[in-house]
Amino acid sequence: MHLPLSRPDITERERRAVMEVLESPYLSMGRKIEEFEAAIARLVGARHAVAVNSGTSALHLAVLGLGIGEGDEVITTPFSFVASSNCVLYARAKPVFVDIDPKTLCLDPNRVEAAITPRTKAILAVDVFGHPAALDDLRDIARRKGLFLIEDACEALGSEYKGIPAGSPVWADVATFAFYPNKQITTGEGGCLVTDSDELAAVARSLRNQGRGQSGAWLVHERLGYNYRLDEMSAALGLAQLQRLEEILAARSAVADCYEATLAPLVRDGWLELPYVNESVTSMSWFVYVVRLSPRLDRDKVMVCLKEQGVDTRPYFTPIHLQPYYRKHFGYKEGDFPITEYVARRTLALPFYNQLREIEIQHVTLVLKKCLGSVCMRQP
Ligand SMILES: *Cc1c(COP(=O)(O)O)cnc(C)c1O
Repeated sequence: MHLPLSRPDITERERRAVMEVLESPYLSMGRKIEEFEAAIARLVGARHAVAVNSGTSALHLAVLGLGIGEGDEVITTPFSFVASSNCVLYARAKPVFVDIDPKTLCLDPNRVEAAITPRTKAILAVDVFGHPAALDDLRDIARRKGLFLIEDACEALGSEYKGIPAGSPVWADVATFAFYPNKQITTGEGGCLVTDSDELAAVARSLRNQGRGQSGAWLVHERLGYNYRLDEMSAALGLAQLQRLEEILAARSAVADCYEATLAPLVRDGWLELPYVNESVTSMSWFVYVVRLSPRLDRDKVMVCLKEQGVDTRPYFTPIHLQPYYRKHFGYKEGDFPITEYVARRTLALPFYNQLREIEIQHVTLVLKKCLGSVCMRQP
């Protein structure tokens, strides 16, 4: 049996939606992107959604749209996918890392204020593995200190914090979603930003379309733009996926519940900890299922053992500050963000997708148990 880490959930509805676009003359900048944007905006209760060709592009345009640039600082987390920090570098601004809450794994709001300087322009929080950051506390700090709040909700489409959707303008000035094939819904490649700001949305629409103005003149470029457009096939795929969102999130919840029950004996025996969900999270949209191994275990050896048995896993995340590019250019080293590093050494993402069956989860658990035993015995 081979169990991949993730697998998209594509039905006949999605195939038909993409085929309909292919049978029309509009493969880009047509009606599907508008419908997709309207559906995302409705979902999070935002005035605007601007769909683009990746979550990274959405983050880039969010940063640019807020006017962040050279000399500015953005407070963010080192425990994330690298794009949430790279987007600050694209704008020639500086990411300032702050360590995480060891339970939620998101930016620790209690550490943010100490990192604010006169150059700080924004806080960029990440909803890690689908678990929203402390959005109310971060919003309050941002308001009090006159900073923008950017929410990287790329892993959290469908989650709710205190009854309000992740990505809602109630929390952040601008939020982003991503639709890579391993996310809750996919467009192949794709992403989206959401905001209540008319001005930010207009700038983002212009920047994704080569800096063209709203006048529509095809060869007039008002700013240094990009080609970050999302094509119609992708938008149609995303729209069809979004129409199934409830069903998709329910399937993922059921898989998470099944893991929780099946892994319980391993938790009881002290081998591992299950994902933590704070009580403020009124709806958890599971992106991945990440357990934390006991510090007595060599996580990387456990991964090799699982791989040999056909079970794919991943060490989500390698801290951003320890990525080779960041070490080289900013001089970060081990020990700079101890909570992030401690967590990152122990995390293990297990196979997780809508169609994962109970018998497969039992298989993962059985193989994991064997591997934990063998790895532990080899220790001194
Ligand atoms: C997936 C993801 C992104 C965006 O990824 P793309 O591959 O560019 O769509 C950004 N931030 C986080 C935290 C992510 O998980």
